[in-house]
Amino acid sequence: MSTAGRHTRVVTLARRPGPGGPAPEDFTLTERAVPELGAGQLLVRNAFMSVDPSMRGRLEETEKHYTTNFAVGEPLDGSAIGRVLASRVPGIHPGAWVRHRLGWRELAIVEATPGSPAAFSAVDAARAAPSAWLGILGQTGFTAYAGLLRAGKLARGDAVFVSAAGGAVGSAVGQLARLLGAASVIGSAGSVAKCHLLTTELGFDAAVDYRAEPIAAGLGRAAPDGIDLYFDNVGGDHLVAALHALRVGGRVVLCGMISQFTSTAPQPGIDHLIQAVLRRVTLRGFIIRDHEDLRTEFTDRVSGWLRTGELVSRQTVVDGLENASAAFLGMLRGDNVGKMLVRVDPDVEA
Ligand code: NDP
Repeated sequence: MSTAGRHTRVVTLARRPGPGGPAPEDFTLTERAVPELGAGQLLVRNAFMSVDPSMRGRLEETEKHYTTNFAVGEPLDGSAIGRVLASRVPGIHPGAWVRHRLGWRELAIVEATPGSPAAFSAVDAARAAPSAWLGILGQTGFTAYAGLLRAGKLARGDAVFVSAAGGAVGSAVGQLARLLGAASVIGSAGSVAKCHLLTTELGFDAAVDYRAEPIAAGLGRAAPDGIDLYFDNVGGDHLVAALHALRVGGRVVLCGMISQFTSTAPQPGIDHLIQAVLRRVTLRGFIIRDHEDLRTEFTDRVSGWLRTGELVSRQTVVDGLENASAAFLGMLRGDNVGKMLVRVDPDVEA
């Protein structure tokens, strides 16, 4: 199949966010020509794309970020999964499912070059639904798994606390912690409905609605004897509350600090770190791309738990590339339960 003359809809960065944070006007839906398919490349029809907190930093000129920042006028990118329409890669045929990083567009040209921004990996769609490969079996679940085991050194019998627990990584952390031997799991989330979901469907022992009361008060009530491990997705007052709740020898997994993206209030000072001294606490930052050696073990174990129903995969699906920027802004506000995804191809089941 030739790509000559084909166009695709893409979302580009129209301008950098203003002082109030990202707004719908910062994004534009436009059309771009699809380049000719070269040797070693695939033409992919994206089915689902992910919206991620890490994109927030990438919208800025020189802000904190995990990879490169976006350029004004250029397409955004991020994790996506889609079906091959045409292939010039030996062994990969039309209809195969591949995961890659060229989301925010309907058609993508990806390539078999490891390390390239356009690199793809094949996924086995018979093992789990395509959308799961961006959520519980994708970076989300993998972040939870590697964060708990590698950075958190989760031990049997631990009391675990995780923030943003109704979101993608957090909902996986709580469930995986239990499956990996934690004695109790507490989560915090920003609504009554999310807290209800944590304790009724996802197996958490307790949940704290941080919008209804200060997180320190809620955590103190939920864990009167303290915690061993805090998985931090939020930073700010959550991190301070956890430092005061940790037992001697406790551990903190520094996964993300979304409150720094979404709050305009001043952040609590670093002086609370004296608690880490007094309690001999280990604080460990980590980035998931450093733990690829765990990928096969992770995929095997987590797909097994999904099959047996021991693990529940929650996702919120927004339809249409034209709604992708709204999905991203909604995720920052907490509109999502579980993984926030955009369905780019309406013919694929969520
Ligand atoms: P989520 O699905 O958890 O979505 C973000 C959630 O953050 C929202 O749903 C909202 O839930 C919550 N939130 C927003 N603002 C605040 C705030 N001020 N205080 C507390 N909670 C807030 O996103 P992900 O699961 O994709 O990511 C979770 C964290 O993991 C992020 O910090 C991300 O950067 C990090 N991450 C780190 C990786 C790494 O390699 N280190 C890899 C992947 C993710 P609510 O309704 O509860 O407020």
